[in-house]
Amino acid sequence: MLVLGIESSCDETGIALYDGENGLLAHRLYSQVELHALYGGVVPELASRDHIRRIIPLIQDTLKAAERQISDLSGIAYTAGPGLIGALLTGASVARSLAFSLNIPAVGVHHMEGHLLAPMLEENKPQFPFICLLVSGGHSMIIRVDGIGRYRLLGDTLDDAAGEAFDKTAKLLDLGYPGGPEVSKLALQGNSERYKFPRPMVDRPGLDMSFSGLKTYTLNTWKQAQKENDATLQTKADICRAFEMAVADTLAIKCKRALEQEGLNRLVVSGGVSANREIREKLQNLMKKRRGEAFFPRLEFCTDNGAMIAYAGAQRLMAGEEQGLNFSATPRWSLEELPPIDF
Ligand code: ATP
Ligand code: MG
Ligand code: FE
Repeated sequence: MLVLGIESSCDETGIALYDGENGLLAHRLYSQVELHALYGGVVPELASRDHIRRIIPLIQDTLKAAERQISDLSGIAYTAGPGLIGALLTGASVARSLAFSLNIPAVGVHHMEGHLLAPMLEENKPQFPFICLLVSGGHSMIIRVDGIGRYRLLGDTLDDAAGEAFDKTAKLLDLGYPGGPEVSKLALQGNSERYKFPRPMVDRPGLDMSFSGLKTYTLNTWKQAQKENDATLQTKADICRAFEMAVADTLAIKCKRALEQEGLNRLVVSGGVSANREIREKLQNLMKKRRGEAFFPRLEFCTDNGAMIAYAGAQRLMAGEEQGLNFSATPRWSLEELPPIDF
């Protein structure tokens, strides 16, 4: 089964071709990051308009790269939510009309299921069940995964998502947008001994997380440095290092707790923040120490992409799932509502 995947939930247009037998054939990404950088964040209306401009040429480009014709397609998967409604509707309407004209099935994919299953595109795939740490721009969740569509939310963030905390911290320090990659780049030059940031919520039982306090801690530390005439690039780097280490430690402590609670020893880490070097290293070490295994997507599939949507959609289409001729987009949508797939 040859599936075209379309991702358009936020500021990235992602297109991919996934083949049920041969795996991922080709993928293309157009990032609107420069368009939104001027505003310091995603402007929804600009995002929708840009998806409209990019989506068809990108589909053509992807087909060409895979040396396939549009008539070779046997199914279409698109991101149906959660995300920005206008951006989602762009992808949904292109996907649904294309499927109608080709007389093939279409399926709406949950964006976070796409992120969660992204490590399945790698050679070394995790087996079910596992614990998934899903850390992205809009979400921070710890999930028990017993199969596709069998998700139990064990922990969530009480305020900011991990990626959001990176983005806001970057903004406070006047670094570029999006913040995650900027903070981690500068952190490389930071001195890990200079500041010690708190590890939020680790002294409390449970698996919920909170990151907004770290952002305040950053702000206060930076203000103090300014007062002391020490607002240098090195100070910024030291703050970034301390911030990143605090986030990584907190995530590792919560993951360890979740693995112990559920009696599991496989950890999947995905979503944009899983691209972070310090976080990957810390969680890799945690699993080594436990004699378990950690799984991550390749770097380019940590953030939004079409491949993860093509993969998740292909699994559902191959299981016979398809939707009628109408389509919709769901800006808010819980992973736990998804139907399970039986193999
Ligand atoms: P969601 O998936 O929750 O709807 P999103 O699609 O905007 O949100 P992703 O594309 O998964 O989020 O990831 C983007 C986020 O990942 C941003 O917040 C960005 O700062 C963060 N991020 C990207 N690279 C890194 C990195 N190296 N270190 C830390 N954070 C990073
Ligand atoms: Mg993005
Ligand atoms: Fe995402």
